[in-house]
Amino acid sequence: NKTDIGLIGLAVMGENLALNMESKGWNVSVYNRTVPGVEEGVVDRFMNGRAKGKNIEGFTDIKDFVDSIATPRKIMMMVRAGSPVDELMEQLFPLLSPGDILIDGGNSNYEDTNRRVKLAESKGFLFVGSGVSGGEEGALNGASIMPGGSEKAWPEVKPILQSIAAKASDGTPCCQWVGSAGSGHFVKMIHNGIEYGDMQLIAEAYWVMKNLLDLNNEEMADVFSRWNEGKLRSYLIEITTNILRHKDKTGGYLIDKILDAAGQKGTGKWSVINAMELGMPLGLIATAVFERSLSAQKELRHQASHQFPRQHTQPIYNKVELVKDIYSALYASKLVSYAQGFAVLQRASDTFGWQLDLASIARMWRGGCIIRSIFLNDIAAAFEATDKPKHLLMAPYFREEMKASLSGWKSLVAEAMKEELPVPAFSSALNYFYSLTSADLPANMVQAQRDYFGAHTFERKDELRGQFFHENWTGYGGDTKSGTYNV
Ligand code: NDP
Repeated sequence: NKTDIGLIGLAVMGENLALNMESKGWNVSVYNRTVPGVEEGVVDRFMNGRAKGKNIEGFTDIKDFVDSIATPRKIMMMVRAGSPVDELMEQLFPLLSPGDILIDGGNSNYEDTNRRVKLAESKGFLFVGSGVSGGEEGALNGASIMPGGSEKAWPEVKPILQSIAAKASDGTPCCQWVGSAGSGHFVKMIHNGIEYGDMQLIAEAYWVMKNLLDLNNEEMADVFSRWNEGKLRSYLIEITTNILRHKDKTGGYLIDKILDAAGQKGTGKWSVINAMELGMPLGLIATAVFERSLSAQKELRHQASHQFPRQHTQPIYNKVELVKDIYSALYASKLVSYAQGFAVLQRASDTFGWQLDLASIARMWRGGCIIRSIFLNDIAAAFEATDKPKHLLMAPYFREEMKASLSGWKSLVAEAMKEELPVPAFSSALNYFYSLTSADLPANMVQAQRDYFGAHTFERKDELRGQFFHENWTGYGGDTKSGTYNV
């Protein structure tokens, strides 16, 4: 009796995914390498522990593991991203049969996945690169799963992957086919970037309430809890409420004892690097990534704070009004962030020929993952409209939402700037919004400067677009132009 699926890598994600699959009625084979020097007995520990008495078979020999799975085999790898995936593939190839399917559920770089799909297909196998979000809890009880790669594999893996995915409130599984090549991992990367942005925005809302309004942790928790009943309803707002109320063993609020130096594992940075490669603005996420970097320079900030003491005017605010403004800033900035993120997805789709369905991606993120929220329903609806918006903020619903938020948002940013309180993500979003909605920008000056010093040429308002001119600005420069390519 062969099993339905194999799973490699019994760390936190692999273990929980295996248990999730088994609980949905699938028979699962599991394998973890056994190498001297690294923890041994991983398979035995799992088999004698959480997997005991379940329809799970454990293997320490990779050939026995592969042989135990029904063909066409489905083998999901949940190992450390990077070279371990390549090493595993090399070990698996000689053991597989034509048509077998490898699924990489780790946080792989989408360019690695592009390469791996080609490699596996050249050998007669299928390869699925799938983003999985939701951490340990999601892996066990329902994750958001974003598969892409060899499309022929989709009908084969769909029943298993959808069964272990989270279900949105309308019952649809948070797992749909994303597109070809590394698109699944690209979408997961942008998901993580958006997560960075959301977290920074919530942190700024917290910081303004604490510093401009002097609210205590319980009062702030009450505000977030109220927001969680409305349009901002989301997992991250919900856990923020819990975090603010949480007391540690000593009875004090833990949040006040946590060092303000944020860590990062790189997916936010990757999103920004790739947006830059695609020539697309992703300023809000970039700001969130840079703020984590600046926060980590705690010593430097400490010293600088002594050299530049704050000039507070300490105005008395109307609490209800200011909380409303903070809400507007948070909500509008979040809209900007999602608009930027989805625009990067659209550009990647056009550039790489992925044919991404943005509405389907928004729907996939409604459950299981860290950025799950009800507001993704509105995003899906906007992208589904017959009259597709050129930009998310120009979709009729969001256009009205932005208009309604603007007054509170800008007055909050202005107030924070006056009080010398950093709100980098709120203000980055506001600047992006002002630039986006400016028919004219000072880029004419940039073009003139580029042409002045480097003969980089410019287009003219009084000529058709696509024609490039060079001016002999100084009278002694020549007429030789530089190429007009854009990178
Ligand atoms: P880790 O990222 O810590 O990966 C550990 C697993 O990788 C172990 O099973 C380990 O085996 C295996 N491994 C490492 N090197 C090799 C190698 N050269 N050959 C074979 N196996 C190897 O564990 P996680 O469970 O946290 O994550 C698994 C994947 O899922 C990662 O890509 C991660 O980025 C991704 N992910 C993680 C999430 C999380 O919340 N933790 C959420 C979503 C995705 P051994 O025991 O022998 O060392």
